[in-house]
Amino acid sequence: MESIIRKVKNNERLGYEEGVRLYDLDLFTLGELANEIREKRWGKKSFFNINRHINPTNVCKDVCKFCAFSAGRKNPNQYTMSHEEILKIVEEARARDVKEVHIVSAHNPETGLAWYMDIFAKIKKQFPEIHIKALTAAEVNFLAEEYNLSYDEVIDLMIENGVDSMPGGGAEIFDEKVRDYICKGKVSSEQWLKIHRLWHKRGRQSNATMLFGHVEEKHHRIDHMIRLRTLQDETGGFNSFIPLVYQRENNYLKVKNFLSSQEILKTMAISRIMLDNFPHIKAYWVTSTVNLALVSQAWGADDLDGTIERESINSAAGAKSAHGMPLSEFVALIKNSGYIPVERDSLYHELKVW
Ligand code: SF4
Repeated sequence: MESIIRKVKNNERLGYEEGVRLYDLDLFTLGELANEIREKRWGKKSFFNINRHINPTNVCKDVCKFCAFSAGRKNPNQYTMSHEEILKIVEEARARDVKEVHIVSAHNPETGLAWYMDIFAKIKKQFPEIHIKALTAAEVNFLAEEYNLSYDEVIDLMIENGVDSMPGGGAEIFDEKVRDYICKGKVSSEQWLKIHRLWHKRGRQSNATMLFGHVEEKHHRIDHMIRLRTLQDETGGFNSFIPLVYQRENNYLKVKNFLSSQEILKTMAISRIMLDNFPHIKAYWVTSTVNLALVSQAWGADDLDGTIERESINSAAGAKSAHGMPLSEFVALIKNSGYIPVERDSLYHELKVW
């Protein structure tokens, strides 16, 4: 273990076996190691943005076992927003100084390709200053399959219609066996990585997530991080890594043992250590709880996502995020926890130190 600690302190990259062994370290040693990396890069800055999540439809052709958002199974309330509804949401959000809309949906085979693409063009035309982060790699794969297009064609359509960056969703856990069990039929790991590679090759940026705390084991998380690290070496297009804590309500995985806070913090710290080529590690308060996200700042996380305003996907599974977080409260929480709230844009340019 000594040699692993020495390597981390000397900024040497850890391999798979060493990554798995990090979990044997105690919580505070891991925190110290991760915090040293965080503070070297970002000092006490904690980044966030003023954003609005929009989830335009919950009708889905896929059946991921961990999902409580898609309609038709546990959730009988199907909805699909009209473009007018979405534009109204964006207009109201802009009036509150929102700078990014984060648009992700279920895989709705009934709307047509234009419903997905035209809304981006409409938003861009009416609100050119707003950054559009939209379509996970899972959605790109769905659209390609549904409309018989290549990934390149879908990506070109996204860019033509005004999508600025891609969110990191749909990665779940890359290990093929676990993936087959929790979300068979959805974008494969290889396809997910391929789509982000193509996006990055066009000079665009994206994020990457990992859903953990369900049926995966620790070594699956390390494998997931290393696959991302390898792609990042090649393209450099990822901004942040976002470990998402599995939410246990209203879904078919029926995991009995929820992760301990210690395990969540350890995973946050290990992400910071393993992903040496990712600029940012995000503590997504929606899935970890606000309190734990704040504590995560001392375990390697330098980004707390944003105000969000409204969120349907994780709140359907029990997260307390349905109504986002008021800006003043968000800023006060970061300050009171001893960090400097730095508002950023979607590509991490600093806009304002609060
Ligand atoms: S996670 Fe996404 S793709 Fe899977 S069932 Fe839910 S909405 Fe559909």
